[in-house]
Amino acid sequence: MIDVTAGKMVFRIKLVFTFILIFGIAIASGIFLFGERISQSTSALVHQDVPIYQQFQNLRNQLTEQERYLYLYYASFNQGHYTNGFQAAQLETRVTLEKLQDHFGNQPALVAILENQQRVLVLAAEFDKNMQLRELNQTDWDLARTQLSDSTLSMRTIAPHIAELTEIVNGQVVASQKKIDEQLFWVNSFVILYALVSLVIAFLVARSIRAYLDSNALNQRLSLFPKRTPNPIISLDRTNKVTYVNPATRRLLARLGRSAEDSSILLTEELLQFQSEILRSDKHFSQFEYKVEQVTFMCELHWLPDQNQWDLHLTDVSAQALAEAKLNFQAYHHPETCLANQYKFREVLESASSTGSQFTLGIIEIRSFNQLLSAGTFEEIQQVVKEIAAVLDKACHDQQSSIELYHIGDKNFAVRIPDSDCQPTVNSLVKLILQRIRMTSFSGEAQIELDFGFACFPQHGDSIDNIIHHTRIALDASASEEHSDFKLFSDKLGELISRQQSLLHLMRIALQEEVFQLYFQPQYSLVSDALIGAEVLIRWHHEDQWISPAEFIPLAERSGLIMPLGDWILDTACAKAKELIDMGYPDLVIAVNISPKQFAHPNFVENVENVLMKHGLPARNLELEITEGVIFNNEVETIQSLHELKNLGVQLAIDDFGTGYSSLSYLKQFPIDKLKIDQSFVRQMHNNKEDQSIVRTIIDLGVNLRLTLIAEGVEEKEQVGLLKEMGCNEIQGYFYSKPLDEGYFAYFLQSKKSVA
Ligand code: C2E
Ligand code: CA
Ligand code: CA
Repeated sequence: MIDVTAGKMVFRIKLVFTFILIFGIAIASGIFLFGERISQSTSALVHQDVPIYQQFQNLRNQLTEQERYLYLYYASFNQGHYTNGFQAAQLETRVTLEKLQDHFGNQPALVAILENQQRVLVLAAEFDKNMQLRELNQTDWDLARTQLSDSTLSMRTIAPHIAELTEIVNGQVVASQKKIDEQLFWVNSFVILYALVSLVIAFLVARSIRAYLDSNALNQRLSLFPKRTPNPIISLDRTNKVTYVNPATRRLLARLGRSAEDSSILLTEELLQFQSEILRSDKHFSQFEYKVEQVTFMCELHWLPDQNQWDLHLTDVSAQALAEAKLNFQAYHHPETCLANQYKFREVLESASSTGSQFTLGIIEIRSFNQLLSAGTFEEIQQVVKEIAAVLDKACHDQQSSIELYHIGDKNFAVRIPDSDCQPTVNSLVKLILQRIRMTSFSGEAQIELDFGFACFPQHGDSIDNIIHHTRIALDASASEEHSDFKLFSDKLGELISRQQSLLHLMRIALQEEVFQLYFQPQYSLVSDALIGAEVLIRWHHEDQWISPAEFIPLAERSGLIMPLGDWILDTACAKAKELIDMGYPDLVIAVNISPKQFAHPNFVENVENVLMKHGLPARNLELEITEGVIFNNEVETIQSLHELKNLGVQLAIDDFGTGYSSLSYLKQFPIDKLKIDQSFVRQMHNNKEDQSIVRTIIDLGVNLRLTLIAEGVEEKEQVGLLKEMGCNEIQGYFYSKPLDEGYFAYFLQSKKSVA
């Protein structure tokens, strides 16, 4: 390409110079010819026209001389004036006239001059003859004078003719002057034209040379580029044979321990593919990255059609690639456990779902993570989480190497089991994980329990959001259900959850609109054979249906709605209790169920105190039912709150006793008044020896701890008999009364119905 440009340039320059030469010769010839003509014209002027004037002057002088000698002759009678003076002048006149004749030929004015001169000569000769007669005294003086005046007249007659000839010469001089001017004008024009054309050509040539020099310099620089660049450049012919490698390529090969002949190892395996893409498209290059041994290259592949050649410009981007890989790793991995994180999880799910492949999704949650957090420092918890991650990782791998584990949140892990037949794989995986977790002793002797939720794609959800949502539903269901190892999503579970969601929504509205009602279930003392109080139970009548608190209270508890709902219950129960007491039942005790979340609130005790004050209800008329779990959850603060409540004078009962942790020894530490024996033991106690002995044990324990005992769910007369015999103090159940609305309860109270 470079040579082609140079060749063109040389040709152009030669062409221009040839043109200038031809043009120059033409102009020079023109000028020469005009010069010749000017020279001719000037020479005629100088050699002919201008000297003529001198001849005119000479003629005039000579005629005057002739005349003067004639008069001197007349005056002096000296013939010498004629023979010497006049004759000499007359000869000179003749020479002058001959010259004029040469110039003018037979010009009439000159002919007239010649004739007059001839007459003068004749008159002069006659005058001389007359004068010579003087010696003889025969001179005719009158004639002499006439002869003299005639000759003078003739000579004078010549003057206008000389003037006429002068005019002719003047005309000739002016004409040749004009001719010279014209010729000079053309010469000048040619010279100016030549100068202008030469100037324009010189400018164009200079410009071309400048462009040529510039392009030459650029070409030189470009030709140096491959040698000087620190980046490898490789040229290939059409058959991909290496035709050139630059020094940087050789250095790179040396660094890789290869010789210069091994340059083809630096080519990507996908070269043919990139080349055909370039040839198919209308752009002549492509950019891509690839790796050779440990080096990552950014390659620019150029197709040079005029040279039938491929050029590869390589840049070593290993450092950037490494940094990018590190950033990428950080972006897609959990910083502590180095497991793939939630973003990777989502990406993998999206690509798996787009291919339509089947998989099972699982979310694993560390149970009671908040308690774990409050039990140790951040670093200790991080350590425990790392240990859990390691156990999960190993178990997943041992179960099936294709299982992928992700760490998607502080307390959440996720597993993706590709191509799995849902249930059996899940069963064995959960079993293996639980077994390994039980066998592992974690830092700080942390007791680790896990909840699992699973869903299968696409049976349980055909979008990523759906499948994750359903897996979480299964996880929540598993977490809220005691003694459940894991839950696999099912349509039933889905329905349940969607019902729960709509219930939650309706519950919020019901709370705002004060749709809830409080029922009272009377409690009966076996000792005093009297009604001693009532448990407040919430009722929700929605669209002609009663919705059980057993369904919506746990929901409210999980969603946090229990806080405003619990406040409303306590407030309303206390207001009603005050009304009932004021009806004349000063010893009536109203028991209100308190959910664990409500109890755990730091302002709970203060709230109770405020409510009591607000309604003027004596504290002893209020009993709070809490579950075993409440006590177990947060011991120090719980004991504190229990003592504060006790100090207020409020009664404290443990609800559903026997179903929780059943660690009887802990009871001693708490200022409890009453144990409520769970109805699950009471229900079959008259038929079932085991239940009977559980009830008996609880009663014995309570008696020992000087606690009041109340049996719940008492429906049968036999149960009453047994309980009485065992030493139980109080009963509550359908046998005595179902929960009653406010009006009925007031009526029931008045009737003071007693046990038959
Ligand atoms: P719980 O505190 O154990 O309440 C006793 C439950 O047993 C009540 O069910 C009551 O209607 C029922 N029951 C009473 N006697 C008998 C009987 O002889 N036989 C049978 N089969 N059942 C009997 P309910 O009202 O459906 O309440 C269920 C649970 O809902 C309660 O269990 C309690 O945990 C919760 N709950 C009810 N009302 C409230 C409330 O106002 N606040 C809070 N936090 N929880 C409440
Ligand atoms: Ca209760
Ligand atoms: Ca109960």
